Amino acid sequence: MNVRFLGGAREVGRSAILVNDRLLLDYGMLTGNPPRFPVDDVDPEAVVVSHGHLDHVGAVPSLLSGDRRPPIHWTPPTRELALTLARDTLKLHGGTYDCPFTETEIRRVTQVSETHGYRESFEAAGHEITFYNAGHIPGSAHVLVDDGDTRLLYTSDFHTDDQRLVSGTTARPDADVVLCESTYSDVEHEARAAIEDRFAESVRTTIWQGGTVVVPAFAIGRTQEMLLVCEANDLDCYVDGMGKQVTRMLRRNPEFVRDADALQRAKSNARFVDGADGQRRRIADQNTVIVTTSGMLSGGPAMTYIPAVRQRPTNKIAMTGYQVEGTPGRDLLDTGSAEIDGRRMPVSAQVESYDFSAHADRDGILEFLDAYRDARVLVNHGDRCEAFAEELRADGFEATAPAVGDEAGI
Ligand SMILES: [Zn+2]
Repeated sequence: MNVRFLGGAREVGRSAILVNDRLLLDYGMLTGNPPRFPVDDVDPEAVVVSHGHLDHVGAVPSLLSGDRRPPIHWTPPTRELALTLARDTLKLHGGTYDCPFTETEIRRVTQVSETHGYRESFEAAGHEITFYNAGHIPGSAHVLVDDGDTRLLYTSDFHTDDQRLVSGTTARPDADVVLCESTYSDVEHEARAAIEDRFAESVRTTIWQGGTVVVPAFAIGRTQEMLLVCEANDLDCYVDGMGKQVTRMLRRNPEFVRDADALQRAKSNARFVDGADGQRRRIADQNTVIVTTSGMLSGGPAMTYIPAVRQRPTNKIAMTGYQVEGTPGRDLLDTGSAEIDGRRMPVSAQVESYDFSAHADRDGILEFLDAYRDARVLVNHGDRCEAFAEELRADGFEATAPAVGDEAGI
């Protein structure tokens, strides 16, 4: 088997791996200004997508330009999320270099889409492929690729612990080579239950004191997780932004969430904001919780809520995930002010941060890899891939961290 790394190696973003020159695993984009895409133009026979996050699926429609029509294989939620993200990218950046496709290519996605459940093997470009639940977001998959000679397990993003929205990964299919993500290879997460308790207690305190809590959250996964947390802790809330339509979509795919009844209760507990900014400003004056995109304050209805709540010290902004360097969310945590909608704003409201991660931490990754002590390990999707590969070698693994552009015979 031959594997070429077109992106997502020694970096996070634009994941793309070409197997045997004809099977493409993921085709993502690295968000930023300007966004970056996988290196090389590829013309694969078939495409397999691990999950519906921008850095794994964001550039997929561009594979359907001209006469090219490779089948795209994914789980049903990944298909829906890919279409949602593509339409959003087109709306934000259509007609510029930042959007490598048009409405025409998005329409073709539905024509070539082939959906599969977990543990149902299928054929793609002469390979046998099997998806296993990766426990990251609904529909996320480990991808097992068998070319008759070598079995490659592409872990993609995974979590070993249960979240309220999805159960952690338990599948450890036999493999000769494991291509393993390493986003948090040097981080130890606090136990999820403890994080949730602190979050709920803090929100309750603000509500008792008469304040408003804005909870910026990514649309995919995190918004639904926060709605589940609110419901489980008897916190009334509003939900706004792209997370609303993702929540509705997941209700149509109940087999890909951990507890469909709990998600239904969480959806009923949350009031969906469908109005204009006038309504949003009125809600921001209420003594309530607002779960809204974007998770790093770079757009979405948060652009209305943050200016509306920022001046009162009784109010609170509770960040729910890692804030990338250079984003307004990171700026707010570091400096107490942020550029919102083009204007620098000092924030008097309390700002807190909670690590509701959807990735395995160091212990989780090591626990996963313990099942693969006889396999060869390739480390990708991280900021310190080479260092982690070296730590694995010291622990007895045969491990390396390929770079973008590298080709490996395995
Ligand atoms: Zn992801």
